[in-house]
Amino acid sequence: MNDLPAAAGADAGALLAALPDPVAWLGPDGAWTVNAAAAARLDRLDAGQDWQALFSEDSAARLRRAVQDAQAGQTTRVTVRVVDTAAPGLVTVAPSGGGVLLHLHVARDPLEVALELMDGLHLGLTVQSPDSRILMVNGAAPDILGLSAEQLTGRDSLDPRWQAIHPDGRPFPGDTHPSRVALRTGQVVRDVPMGIFHPPSETWRWLQVTAIPRLVAGTNEAKQVTTVFADVTDRYVLQREMQRSEQRFRSLVEATSQIVWDAHPDGHFPPPQPGWEAFTGQTPGEYGGAGWLDAVHPDDRPGTLRDWRRAMQTEQHYLTEHRLRRADGTYVPMQARAVAVRDENGAIREWVGIHTDMSAVRDAQQALIDLNADLERRVQERTLALADLTRFSTLLLTAAGEGIFGLNPDGVTTFANPAAARMLGYSVERMIGASQHDLVHHHHADGRTYDLHECPIHQTLQDGQTRRVEQDVMWHAQGHAVPVAYVVTPTHDENGRPSGAVVMVQDITERERAQEQLRELIEDLERSNQDLEQFAYVASHDLQEPLRTIGSYTELFARRYQGQLDPRADQYLHYMQDAVMRMRSLIQDLLGFARVGRHDTLLERVPLDDLLRAAAQNVRGTLDDGGGTLVWRTPHAVLGQPSLLIQLITNLISNGLKFRAEDRPAHVQVTSHLEGEFVRVTVQDNGIGIAPEYHARVFDIFQRLHRREQYAGNGMGLAICRKIVEFHGGRIWLESAPAQGSTFHLTLPVAPSQ
Ligand code: ADP
Repeated sequence: MNDLPAAAGADAGALLAALPDPVAWLGPDGAWTVNAAAAARLDRLDAGQDWQALFSEDSAARLRRAVQDAQAGQTTRVTVRVVDTAAPGLVTVAPSGGGVLLHLHVARDPLEVALELMDGLHLGLTVQSPDSRILMVNGAAPDILGLSAEQLTGRDSLDPRWQAIHPDGRPFPGDTHPSRVALRTGQVVRDVPMGIFHPPSETWRWLQVTAIPRLVAGTNEAKQVTTVFADVTDRYVLQREMQRSEQRFRSLVEATSQIVWDAHPDGHFPPPQPGWEAFTGQTPGEYGGAGWLDAVHPDDRPGTLRDWRRAMQTEQHYLTEHRLRRADGTYVPMQARAVAVRDENGAIREWVGIHTDMSAVRDAQQALIDLNADLERRVQERTLALADLTRFSTLLLTAAGEGIFGLNPDGVTTFANPAAARMLGYSVERMIGASQHDLVHHHHADGRTYDLHECPIHQTLQDGQTRRVEQDVMWHAQGHAVPVAYVVTPTHDENGRPSGAVVMVQDITERERAQEQLRELIEDLERSNQDLEQFAYVASHDLQEPLRTIGSYTELFARRYQGQLDPRADQYLHYMQDAVMRMRSLIQDLLGFARVGRHDTLLERVPLDDLLRAAAQNVRGTLDDGGGTLVWRTPHAVLGQPSLLIQLITNLISNGLKFRAEDRPAHVQVTSHLEGEFVRVTVQDNGIGIAPEYHARVFDIFQRLHRREQYAGNGMGLAICRKIVEFHGGRIWLESAPAQGSTFHLTLPVAPSQ
């Protein structure tokens, strides 16, 4: 310390900083410098630079006096009380570098140091009273034992809640616990292995426990016991694992090891035979001489003895198999061989033999036998399944409604089912063995000879490709053609080579007839439709003329005689005028309907927005009167006839406005979407809606769902709409429910982009 001044003069700060104990230096100018250790403590106390705050009041006073002594050149040591630990300390106060150096040595309780050390090493420690109650525990003990310090304190070693075991699993009674033993005997008990149950992890942990008694001076009587324990679970588990695998390894070696032995020329076994002893457990006294035969299974002894004797007599090598008893009493199948070792004169000096464990070979043999049995069983099962399959196929062939032929690669029929025979008028026997082409496929429907190379069946026989023919003929035994459709499927033998074909033939006479009828029906319908349209057109057109005449005369009549006849006549006149008006509107509608598509007009590109503007114009009156609204968002263009399309859209919009619900103003909204080749136009209203059962009917002519007094109309509007849509190649349908409004959908071909 005394030579510090020079050094401190050089670099006092650096030196002070390096010291582990708190140090403060009072410079000649009266300024304090503290090192890092002191600063840390002051920091903890939040005391700034005032180092005196570290000490109790009286200690600080003593230190101040010591500082004055040091300034006078005297070094003193002052015992002090440190505030933050309440531990006693020693401060050296010495003159240094023209100032005063104060150096604090903090005294610590050795037990505290020991406990800290043990915590650091993760060693548990308990101190127990003579009745083995735990008085104190260190920080690591609760962690190792899995119990809190509170749970541990006060417990004694006899407490039944301890669960402790020996390594072999036996319980570890409390009074045999090392601490109890140490208390009882006054002796140190070292390194006792103990398993304890660790509640938090619910596992068993392994401890190594040492108990050190503290004796009453001069006696053998313990007044306390300190028990130290370490958690050695990891090591212990590893050790056990190693022991186990070593044992396993050893028994493996024992089980598979070969035994090497030697014998006298007369066949007796001279000791020592370490391999034999280890395997059989026989002592030299037991196996000596011919005693070794006792280790051979009794049933195998005669055979073994015979082979061994023969080897002795013939002096040829010895080879036998027998079961040999292992030390644990089980018999192991062994192969034994021995050869004679001869001296230079050719006389036998000894036999050297070897026993080889045959279990593995035996197991393999057994496995082979099992495998064979399994294979045999599977072959049998397969055979049965195949027989079933054959039966099933035969059944299928017989029951099938289609004609089925089997052909060999030359086109000769190898089988035919009854349906095939029935279809073509031959017996099955007649067909089998005959060339199928020559028998039933020789000509085309039009009478031309069917060249074999053109024949799809023949082609399949050549190239192995499946073929389907929708229309052809086969020839009946009675000479007429049977219209047929057929499928030819190639067949293959078990090596995958083509082996012919199966032909499944269907008689399509009925189908053709039905198709023909359908064609005729459609033609008839088209014709009558045309006639009807023609009739409707002519009728409505020609009806107009007489109606006009009736109309004119009724009007004339009314003008001249209205109010001059009796009131009833006036009423009749009114009825007449009304009927004429309705008749006119009916005829006009009918004419309009009949006219749709009558004239071949060129279809043109029509932007939907144009249509909507025109339609809006047409319903302007209704909109103005009824306060309804019409909106549209129709950015697409369609291909069509503008006047028809305007009529179509106008009809739908005006229906939407007309069939409005009483409680709300009508609102009609028209939108369009692109759907592939078509534009879908949707006309949606918020009106009275249509019950689902009428959804199809409303598109028929003269179909109305309401009385004329309720809603005006002839029931022709939607019929015309459908005709216009269908004329354009589109579709019209609707979604609606009563009071829910109606949505009409229609599709029209999209106009090619310009
Ligand atoms: P009309 O010429 O009498 O309006 P339509 O062929 O246009 O005949 O319609 C047939 C029937 O379908 C109508 O009488 C009406 O009952 C029903 N209908 C058509 N459109 C709508 C709609 N938007 N809302 C409710 N019902 C409708």
